[in-house]
Order: sequence, then structure tokens, then C-alpha cells
Amino acid sequence: MKVMVPIKRVIDYNVNIRVKTDGSGVETANVKMSMNPFDEIAVEQAIRLKEAGQADDIIAVSIGVAKCQETLRTALAMGADRAILVQTETPTEPLAVAKLLKALVAQEQPQLVILGKQAIDDDCNQTGQMLAALLGWAQGTFISALNLEGETLDITREIDGGLERRRLPLPAVLTVDLRLNDPRYASLPNIMKAKRKPLTTLTPDDLGVDISPRLTTLKVAEPPQRQAGIKVSSVAELVDKLRNEAKVIS
Ligand code: AMP
Repeated sequence: MKVMVPIKRVIDYNVNIRVKTDGSGVETANVKMSMNPFDEIAVEQAIRLKEAGQADDIIAVSIGVAKCQETLRTALAMGADRAILVQTETPTEPLAVAKLLKALVAQEQPQLVILGKQAIDDDCNQTGQMLAALLGWAQGTFISALNLEGETLDITREIDGGLERRRLPLPAVLTVDLRLNDPRYASLPNIMKAKRKPLTTLTPDDLGVDISPRLTTLKVAEPPQRQAGIKVSSVAELVDKLRNEAKVIS
């Protein structure tokens, strides 16, 4: 079985995000970038399926600037077999990414696509769902456990009220949640080996997909500074402040 794992290059989760002075977005120049953490979990899951003898070809895909090659090499060092970069300077929205992935699915014919539940830069949480809809495939979102039994996926989903178990037929699109697994670190020998693994570069035009943005960013701003807290001396004072100052109770 072929498994496709889309991975996004995002600002590293340890970086203190700075908003650009003109309010057009966040600063990405000279900022450490890494694989979206949920996508590391997706890569790890694909590798575990391969180790269990249930997958034989893992294709990591990234859409973005030339430097996404570094992120793809990380996926290859973890254990993906080959990589595809769809290179573009245009910032991509989830619908454009989903359309590009649909075109790649048509080319590569995987039976399973495993994505992160969301990219931590835009927090959209849309791409997997859009891809499943465009393909007309079954979708399992926010998964925290996965078992493949023949052609059936037995998944556990993290939902507000607890955990939900479902069965899905292949082909399917899955999006992974935090508790699915702990992604492995790439070892030095595997980082060296990854340099020789195949990495193909395409463009959106090669795939016949129009990725022109459909959304307009009006303004990006820092959240308001948090005010220092105060101590209240009684419950009555607390209720008074909640009612008359914070106005959160009536
Ligand atoms: P989002 O819908 O933007 O929150 O992203 C959800 C998931 O879609 C991510 O965790 C990735 O697996 C995938 N994805 C989003 N954008 C890209 C991209 N530019 N390249 C590859 N995969 C992406």
C-alpha cells in the first residue's frame, strides 16, 4: 500500500512570533522553520504502518518555497521513501493545497493520505477535510489511535466529549492528533542516507491547478497585552467585579 504524507514547513514552535510592522503578516525572515509538529506525527504513523508490513511506499509531499526541500529531507531521514516538492512562492490556502494534493493522488494512486490535523502557523484545520471531499474518500479526523485490518481502518478520534471509535474503508484521508504517537528523531546515518533518496520537484502548473489566493488578509496584530491580576478579599467583591467591571455575569 502506498501512503502519502503532506508536510508543511512552518515557523518552529519554539520561536517567539513577531508581527511585521506594516501588519501584513508575521516575520519569517531569519526565523527558524521546521516541520509542522502534527505532520511529524503523520510521518511517524506512516513509518509504523511500513514497519508492520502494511505499507510499502511512503511519499512525503510539501507545497511551498524551495527551502521546503529541507523539511522533506527530514521526513526522508525519519523513514519516508521518496518526496515530492510542489514549488511555489505564492502563499497557499488550504483549498489550493487540497487541490494540489488531489492532483498528486491521481498521479501516485496512494490508498491512504495522512495529514496533520492542523498547521500551527495558520491553525486552519481544513486541508484534510477538503481533500477528502474533493476525492470523495472516507475521512477520519483528529485520530489518536489507528489499526489497519485488511481494507478497513479502525480509528479512535479525539472529540469534545471524549473518544469516538469508527471504522472506515480504504481509500481514506486521515488527520492526526497529538496523542497518536511520539515521532522518532532521525539518526545521523539516516540523515546521510536521506540525501540520496529521490526528491522530485513540480510546479502547480505541472499539476494544472490554479492556486491564486481567494482570501484577503485585512490586518495581522499582536494580541492585547495581558493585564496584571489582583487579589480580592471576599467572594462578594469577586462577584461585584465580575458583574460590574468584567461584565461577564449579570
Ligand atoms: P491546515 O488545514 O492548513 O491547518 O493544515 C492541515 C494539514 O494539511 C497539515 O498538517 C499538513 O499535513 C497539510 N498541509 C497544509 N498546508 C500544506 C503545505 N503547504 N504543504 C504540505 N502539506 C500541507
